[in-house]
Amino acid sequence: MSVIVQSFEQSPSFTDDLRRIAYQNRNIPNPFISRGNSFDGQRWGLEFVKVLRVDLTTGRFADQEISKEDCRKFLGGRGLAAKILYEENKPRIDAFDPENRLIFMAGPYTGTQGSFTAFYNVTTKAPLTGAILSAHSGGHWGPMFRKTGYDGIVFKGKSPKPVYLLITDKGPELKDASDLWGRDVFKTIDELEKRHERSKAAVIGPAGEKLVRYASIMNDMNRAAGRGGVGAVMGSKNLKAVAALGTGQVNIADVEGFRKAVMEFYQEGRDNGELYKRRRYGTWGLPGRANASKTQAAFNFKEGYFAEFAKYEDPEVIIDLIRVRDEACFSCPFGCSKRSRINDPEYPLTAKGPEHETMALVGSNCGLGDMEDICRANYLCNELGMDTITTGAMVSCAMELFEEGYLPEKDLGFPLEFGNKNMFKLLKQIAHREGIGELMAQGGVTFGAKYGHPELFMGIKGMGIPAWHPQALDALGLQYATCNTGGAHTKSTMPFYEGRKDPAYFVEFTKKDQDYLAAADSGILCWIIYHGPLWGEKLAEWLTYVTGTTYTPEGLEALGERIWNLERLFNMKAGITGKDDTLPPRILKEPRVKNRVVVLDKLLPEYYERRGWDQNGVPTREKLKELALEKEGAGVI
Ligand code: SF4
Repeated sequence: MSVIVQSFEQSPSFTDDLRRIAYQNRNIPNPFISRGNSFDGQRWGLEFVKVLRVDLTTGRFADQEISKEDCRKFLGGRGLAAKILYEENKPRIDAFDPENRLIFMAGPYTGTQGSFTAFYNVTTKAPLTGAILSAHSGGHWGPMFRKTGYDGIVFKGKSPKPVYLLITDKGPELKDASDLWGRDVFKTIDELEKRHERSKAAVIGPAGEKLVRYASIMNDMNRAAGRGGVGAVMGSKNLKAVAALGTGQVNIADVEGFRKAVMEFYQEGRDNGELYKRRRYGTWGLPGRANASKTQAAFNFKEGYFAEFAKYEDPEVIIDLIRVRDEACFSCPFGCSKRSRINDPEYPLTAKGPEHETMALVGSNCGLGDMEDICRANYLCNELGMDTITTGAMVSCAMELFEEGYLPEKDLGFPLEFGNKNMFKLLKQIAHREGIGELMAQGGVTFGAKYGHPELFMGIKGMGIPAWHPQALDALGLQYATCNTGGAHTKSTMPFYEGRKDPAYFVEFTKKDQDYLAAADSGILCWIIYHGPLWGEKLAEWLTYVTGTTYTPEGLEALGERIWNLERLFNMKAGITGKDDTLPPRILKEPRVKNRVVVLDKLLPEYYERRGWDQNGVPTREKLKELALEKEGAGVI
């Protein structure tokens, strides 16, 4: 361990960061002194991946060792979880059926001594879309979980009463959660982490309990595995929380190689201006960037520029306005997360964020420009355990329905034009399924249809579009439309980063990017960092050191392509096909931004061809054979 600290000492800026982060994380086991971060020994890819099976109906546990073959083909995290879901879920099962699997999965990289290693994956069939859902969260839960000796948990069944899972070095235990049921996210985490000292808890709030179809699983208070309703699936199983307390080792294969590679990265990072900006501003540098490129979603995607955010185009303004301090996930010297303050008598607390996606969806897209209001909406969503992005998409849809006269005030109980702060009341109603919240909890397609205008919900496969307006960038529209999980921003990256600007490469870029990120999500590496400086060679190199298996950028891309195709096959079995690779009519037909629409009808055939799929978006037998997915494709194509 001292070797690592000495190496950090060579880099004054990172030493300062480590001190700062160590102070911020002072109540959390220190990754640099915990015995759980030894560089000795080896596990993932060399011995086995250990998964805990929990049948919530019977309360029985079983351990499972994942085969080397599956690790080789699917790596971990998102890939391995998709493989398990594919094999075990009946194709058309309802997301709230007890047989729907809820899978927590770490990757070989999770909780290791490197940086950006905090993330875990949650996979299930989504209540919001009926498609596969793959959500990620950082913080400290993932590493703490891996230190228990397990790499994944597969839940099935439904507990007869509210329970939580406590998992420690001694093993798993289901405990009564009757007294926790009904508590919000913050109170639940607080109680569990007091009850089991030094543990970290991943929990649901009222929205998950009430089966809101975009309820999140929350850890470290404000970290969310969000979007399509992993929290609602957890609620449907009467599972309030998973508390982890591990003190074991997270081992890697090549200690010296890994240590050297991480140190080199830090040295290179010292003078990297782009890295500095990401560290200083987190995602707060993005409203200015999005406004400048006319990609800032505003007024339910009627616009791609939000004038009230012009004042935030210099991110230092946001820092002065709301930042309390920076925060970091486990073992991360970067600390991109920002803690903000809320000067509201009702909510005088501070909270993490808001991230740019939240600023857009509950902010500009709802016509709300005041940063403290946005913080408040963010706080409420986190407290209630609801995905900020989909919730924002729901509220902005309701606002447009109201302004157009389709949604009467009597149904709401209050006016709700864009920018109206009655949205705070609405957030609580949704989480508790009260009043119109009962209908809105069911998602945008159902809600829009009830008022005769499903097209006013700006969603893809039923999931709200994230922050970036796709009319400004064709590749973005293609990425959104073809995403296996619906309107997600983390399954491919924005196509305007350096070196990826040429429209001629949009189709090629989209395919490669989706595949590469599927591999990175299986590693698992933090999303903030891997689409930048850890792209390609470095990710392959780091995974090689961690697992002892040799990876190359091309090999990872091929592995990601296998995962992407497996997710596609799952969706096809669930009835989601090429006809669902589309965008809302507003994006395809109304030139709202730069006088453009997304030419999806031109891009989609090119994309299918590049993927080796037929013109209906079905993977061909040849492609599945190339990806060693013939067995999985049998009976589907
Ligand atoms: S870069 Fe940010 S999100 Fe990623 S691990 Fe570090 S603090 Fe967490």
